[in-house]
Amino acid sequence: MQSTMNAYEIETWLRETDPIRLEMLWKQADLIRAKEVGDQVHLRGLIELSNICRRQCLYCGIRAGNSALTRYRLTNQEVLDAARKAIQFEYGSIVIQSGEDAQLDPENIARLIRQIKGETDLAITLSLGERSIEDYHLWKQAGADRYLLRFETSNRRLFQVIHPAWKHDRLNSNDRLQLLRELRGLGYEIGSGVMVGIPGQSYTDLTNDLLLFRELNLNMIGSGPFLLHPQTPLGQLFLADRGTGLLQVTEWTKEQRAFFEQNDLPVLAIDDQVAHSDQLAFKVIALARLLCPRANIPSTTAIATIDRENGRKMGLSRGANVVMPNLTPLQYRRFYEIYPNKAASYETPEETHAQMLQHLAAIGRIPGKGRGDSR
Ligand code: SAH
Repeated sequence: MQSTMNAYEIETWLRETDPIRLEMLWKQADLIRAKEVGDQVHLRGLIELSNICRRQCLYCGIRAGNSALTRYRLTNQEVLDAARKAIQFEYGSIVIQSGEDAQLDPENIARLIRQIKGETDLAITLSLGERSIEDYHLWKQAGADRYLLRFETSNRRLFQVIHPAWKHDRLNSNDRLQLLRELRGLGYEIGSGVMVGIPGQSYTDLTNDLLLFRELNLNMIGSGPFLLHPQTPLGQLFLADRGTGLLQVTEWTKEQRAFFEQNDLPVLAIDDQVAHSDQLAFKVIALARLLCPRANIPSTTAIATIDRENGRKMGLSRGANVVMPNLTPLQYRRFYEIYPNKAASYETPEETHAQMLQHLAAIGRIPGKGRGDSR
C-alpha cells in the first residue's frame, strides 16, 4: 500500500468489502497523513459568491435550467465581510466559489482580490469554473493563490454527457485537464477532484481518476459522493435513496438504459457501476492520500451531507487534512443548492465554525496555523 500502487491494486481496494482489510486501509491512510502533513487541519472559509450559472450540467442543482431556484450574487461588501469573519475565526485561507456566472465582471473579481489581499494575509482560492486564460491571468496578478476545478470524472465521454459544452466555450475549453495545466502554468496551486457514484461511472473509471490525481501532481484533491438532485436530469432519471440522495440501483430501468445508449455510453453491469455507499467516498480519500501523500485533501461538505454527525470526522480520520467551513451569509446559503439537504444550509458562519472546532476536538486534531500552503 503505497504511492506506487498500480491500477489493479487500486481497483481491488475500491471493490474491497472485508471490514478488517478496510480497517487496514483507513489506518494506513491516517498514518501517511500524520507523517506527511501532520495533525493540523487547515480551515478554508468557503464563500459561495453566486449561484447564477450558464451551464446545464446534468448533475448540478444550480444548472441554468433549474427555474425553481432563487438566484443571488454577493456584493463585494458581503464578500469582504465574510473574509473578515475568516480572520476573526483565525482561518488561513478562503475559497471563493460560484456557478459559471457570465455577469461576474473579471475586473471586479480582481478588485475584490486586491482588496482582501490589502487587508488580510489570507490565501485566496478561486473556484469559478471555466473562464478565459486572460481572466485566470488577471486574477493571479491580482493576488489569487490557488484554483479549484474538478475534472469530475476522467471518463471523457461521460464528462461530455454530464457537462455539456456550450456555444460560447473557447476551443476545447471544457477540457478541464488542459485548463488545469494552464492554471499551473500561471503559477496557481491547483486542485481538482471527482464525484463518486455518477451513473455510468465504473470502478475502472474511478481507478483512472485516482491515477490521474497522481499524474497531475495535484496540490489539492477534493472528492465526495455524487448526490442526486430532483431538479436535475440525472436526479429525475435515476433513483435515489430517499434518506441520503445516493444512487440506488439493482437493475437499470428501460429509461436508464435508453439514456446510456442514446449518449453512446456503455450500459454497465450493475457490479461495475460505482454506487450506493458512503464508504466509497472514504476509499477515494484514503487512496488519494496514499497516492499523493503530501496533497491537501478536504473532508468535503458532500461527505458531511450523507452523515451529518460523523462524515466530516471520518474523512479526517481516513486521510483528509482540510475542512471548508461555510462563511456564506445565512440568507443565501440554501440557494447554493448543488445537491439537496446540503450540510450547513441553515447555519450562521458562527454556528458552522463552532461545529468544526468541536469535530476537530473530538478526534484529537488541531486547527491549522497559517495559510496551509501545499508542500
Ligand atoms: N462552477 C464551478 C463550481 C461548481 S460547485 C465548477 O464547475 O467548477 C463545486 C463542485 O460541486 C463541482 O465541481 C462538483 O464536483 C460538485 N457537485 C455538483 N453537483 C453535485 C452533486 N449533485 N452531487 C455531488 N457533488 C456535486
